[in-house]
Order: sequence, then structure tokens, then C-alpha cells
Amino acid sequence: MAVAATLVVAGIALVAIGIQSGGGLDNDIAAAPARTAIPAPYDADRAMGYLRQICDIGPRPTASAGMETQQAFLKRHFESLGGTVRLQSTRIRHPETGDVIPMANLIASWHLDRPKRFLLCAHYDTRPFPDRDRRNPKGRFVGANDGGSGVAALMELAHHLDELPSDVGVDLVMFDAEEFVFDERRDKYFLGSTYFAQQYRMQPPQSPYTAGVLLDMVGDKELRIYYERNSLKYARQVARQIWNVADDLGVTAFVPRSRHEIRDDHLPLNQIAGIPTVDLIDFDYPRPGLGAPQYWHTEQDIPENCSGESLAAVVWVVHQWLQRQ
Ligand SMILES: [Zn+2]
Repeated sequence: MAVAATLVVAGIALVAIGIQSGGGLDNDIAAAPARTAIPAPYDADRAMGYLRQICDIGPRPTASAGMETQQAFLKRHFESLGGTVRLQSTRIRHPETGDVIPMANLIASWHLDRPKRFLLCAHYDTRPFPDRDRRNPKGRFVGANDGGSGVAALMELAHHLDELPSDVGVDLVMFDAEEFVFDERRDKYFLGSTYFAQQYRMQPPQSPYTAGVLLDMVGDKELRIYYERNSLKYARQVARQIWNVADDLGVTAFVPRSRHEIRDDHLPLNQIAGIPTVDLIDFDYPRPGLGAPQYWHTEQDIPENCSGESLAAVVWVVHQWLQRQ
């Protein structure tokens, strides 16, 4: 996940919002993401198993051996559940060496003949280094929450795509090079989603997407997903629908207040492709507040700081939202 050039701005926003709300953002953070039990078909253990398998591959930055292993792993998984899988490949320049290297989005489609289409997406590359880790900024980064959680959630969601309204089809898209970033000030974010959005705009499909949902950092043990401000700006109606579904289901991890403004893969989708896309993201990892630990872009972004319950809760909400289309 990226805040791109607005890291400082994000920090300012945090402070400002903290003051606005009297500092009482959420002192009631509970372990459970929902007021009621998550229905068994949305399998928390299975989702967590996927997250572990992804992290067991190791770091998965763009054009790495880990990325290649992950692509083969995901292709097998989605095909075994009835998806049609393809890679949308192109080439980019390595920001450090200048070499031309491959980049590929992975697209898994269900019900390609159906006219009402939805885009569910996540980035599947990991940042090359945990550069916000105070002790070891050049260390090993497996991106359990940032890079892994969205993919694990889509893997779990794929078990439920036979149960959709009869005119609804979905594409699960995993974006590469969301953060192939070695130098915060120099390197570009969102290369995969930008490429996807440009292709979509140049060659519009017969059935354009009705809406898109981006899943990023949805595995936090202490899950709290607030409205993200760019999502409200570009896709307010979709955001309202999703939070309303969460409210109906009793998934209290979805908090109907706005908090951060995040630059993420949903920007090219909204701005270039014109697909109204919402970013589901819990940017406070593990929790807000001065003195709280910070796992984002550190070696602490590991499965132990994530939860299958969180993943299952998000999948439940997204699937039920699709069911209501
Ligand atoms: Zn990130």
C-alpha cells in the first residue's frame, strides 16, 4: 500500500483528525471484527492458510523469483475454482538499474458471458525493502498485510463466486508494481493498475465494470476499516452500499466515518478508467494512536500480526454486497 508522495500529508491528516474527534477515535477496539459469528462458509482458517502460504513464498517484489512462484500458485488456485486466468504482461524500467524488466497483472474471471461486471482487486507485489523499519530498513519484507492480505481475501472469495445473481460476473485482478519503490521521492507507484486502466480506456470492454473494490491491508488483527476519502470522492455510492451491507451483517470492523486520504491503486481506476472504485483499507496497523507500534513497511508485517477472522469478515461483506447487485 502506498501513500505515494503524501506520506507527510498523511501524517498531518492523522493529527488533524485525531484532534477533530477529541482523540477518541476507537478506544473500544475489540478482537472480533463482527458482532455476530461469521457464517462458516466464509472460512477464517482457510483464508489465514492462504495468507501463510503466500508469505511462505518469501518476498514477492516485481520481477522476482518470488513473484513468479506466486503467479503459478495463484493460477492453479483460481483455475481449480473455475476461474479463467490470464496474465496482462508488459515491461517497465527497473527504477534502480534502468534495466527493462517484466511486469504482469494477473486476472481471474468468472462468468465471462454475464453483462453486469464487477472488479475486485488487490496488489500482489511486495515492497522491495521494509524501509520504515527503524532497525533493519534493508531487511526482509514479506508483506503479510500489505500485499498478502488482499490476495488471500480474493483467494477465499473465489470459493463463493458460484453464488452470484444470474447476471453478475466478476474479475479478480491482482496488480503488479504497486510499490516497486526503492526511493520514495524518485520512484513511481501504481504501475500495474495504471497499465490496466490505460488498456481498459483504450479498448473498452463490451460490458464496462459497474463498480470496483480494492482490498489493501485488510488482514490486521485489530481490523477497523474507515471510509477512505478518495473513495468517497470518486465512488461515494459504492462506498455507502458496502458499509450498509456491513452494518446489516453486524460487521463492526467497518466504521462508517472517514479517516485517511490514501493514494492507492484505486486512483488510476477512478481517474483513468472511470471505474467507480472503493479502497477498503485499514491504514492503522495495528492501531491508531501516539506510541502505538507501527508495522507498515517494517519487518513486523508478518502473518502473526494478521487474522483469518478479519479476512473472512471482509470477504463476507464483499460477497454479500455482490449478492445484492
Ligand atoms: Zn505498501
